[in-house]
Amino acid sequence: MKSSFRYQVLITFALLGFSLVNTAFAQNPYDKFRERRYSNEGYLSEADEMKLGDQVHAEVLKQMRLVQDPTINNYVTSIGRKLARNSLRPNIPWQFYVVDDKSVNAFATLGGKVYVHTGLLAVTQNEAQLASVLGHEIGHIVGRHGLENVKRANKYGTLAGIAQIAGAVLGGRTGASIGELAGNLIAGGYLMKHSRDAEREADYLGLYELDRSGYNTAGMVQMFETLAQISQSQPNSVGSILASHPPAAERAQNTRREIGDYLKGTDARGILNTNDYNRIKGSTPMPADKPRRVRPRG
Ligand SMILES: [Zn+2]
Repeated sequence: MKSSFRYQVLITFALLGFSLVNTAFAQNPYDKFRERRYSNEGYLSEADEMKLGDQVHAEVLKQMRLVQDPTINNYVTSIGRKLARNSLRPNIPWQFYVVDDKSVNAFATLGGKVYVHTGLLAVTQNEAQLASVLGHEIGHIVGRHGLENVKRANKYGTLAGIAQIAGAVLGGRTGASIGELAGNLIAGGYLMKHSRDAEREADYLGLYELDRSGYNTAGMVQMFETLAQISQSQPNSVGSILASHPPAAERAQNTRREIGDYLKGTDARGILNTNDYNRIKGSTPMPADKPRRVRPRG
């Protein structure tokens, strides 16, 4: 009797131990990004990345209409620059643009250029949600994901007629041939089509930018939940770029997991919303959206 009890206790502890170990060691999808260091090594030099980014911007202007309202532009820029200052690439000339387009979309190209559609602004409900999208796009530029795409497109010869782009210097090129390259990058859709892991990495980097900028990290979870709802109810309104990301429900779950594992409590403090956001949206602030300011941490 006594030994069978001891046996039961042993089994109970063994099972308990197993489940604890299981919970503790279940893979956090962001672990692979944790020790990563970022630079332009192996890619275009930073100066050439800027040059190509400018040409790509000229192509974007041919295809899209940008919002000219300085109030909206300055507002988005101020959030973007705050996040960029708190990113792992604070020292490039970051530029933020609002694209006049109903689709729920945002994208980043090269050299600190980030674009957000009015359709995305429209579905956000507070500043932290908007910041989480900008943070994600900044993450693509920190992670050199556009540069990686340029390199890959060149390697597989998909950029027909344009040799030796990646790792080469653009300096010897004429403006026209850089323009041609930029045109091909946009037309072929190479630049903004990232792997799912690159998307996860941008989410990971964006989450930490959000936190370091003093935002409430719940905003990012809310944003992914909103995107998950929209991709169910109005799949056609979601831009192709967002649609190619990992499912929004998974992104919400990854963010919750990271907050639980490493950023505990950051979803209960920090800035969720501001009066500036409400003014821009032209909506009456909801009680839950009242600004909650704390001093940004390191
Ligand atoms: Zn992305």
